[in-house]
Amino acid sequence: MATGNAEERNNPNVLLTGTPGTGKTTLGQELADRLSMSYINVGDIAKEKELYEGWDDEYQCPFLDEERVIDELDDALKQGGCIVDYHSCEFFPERWFDFVFVLRTDNTNLYNRLEQRGYSGKKLEDNVQCEIFQTILEEAVSSYLPSIVFELQSNTPNDLESNLESIAELTERWKSSKR
Ligand code: ADP
Repeated sequence: MATGNAEERNNPNVLLTGTPGTGKTTLGQELADRLSMSYINVGDIAKEKELYEGWDDEYQCPFLDEERVIDELDDALKQGGCIVDYHSCEFFPERWFDFVFVLRTDNTNLYNRLEQRGYSGKKLEDNVQCEIFQTILEEAVSSYLPSIVFELQSNTPNDLESNLESIAELTERWKSSKR
């Protein structure tokens, strides 16, 4: 029976995580284009398929139904070659990912990006705090093998380019090791 373990796929799966606004979508879409991988935006799929349970009064948004998200995506991840974009990472099965990249953005830069997105008040402050306290980085390090977790600076177009190149190189090396 296929378990979706790394030994059984020929293409690696990549998780792009980080505070909202750090550039996951920008990097993920470009990466999927360049490497002919599938881009999966978990937030968009949850919205489209209404994979929610309950309501978060504090942030005025629905809670993600994590079990249903996992069921929904499991077949694709078992196939390999997926780039998953989400601002949290601890609830995904560890076996899904060969690489976990945590995007990081300087506080002022992030503040400006989120403000431009229309965030304000508590929502804006909480997200910037999340980045200051490197919450997602810590979540990633405690949820996955440290050897597959990489922190990537995501402030400038140059950062974007060098992140694309680094990920392309790592995934290529992963594939070569399978041949
Ligand atoms: P996320 O998916 O993490 O919420 P986005 O990819 O939507 O973040 O990016 C948030 C904003 O930051 C967008 O306006 C995007 O154009 C910009 N951005 C993303 N990455 C970079 C980068 N490396 N350099 C400059 N701007 C960037």
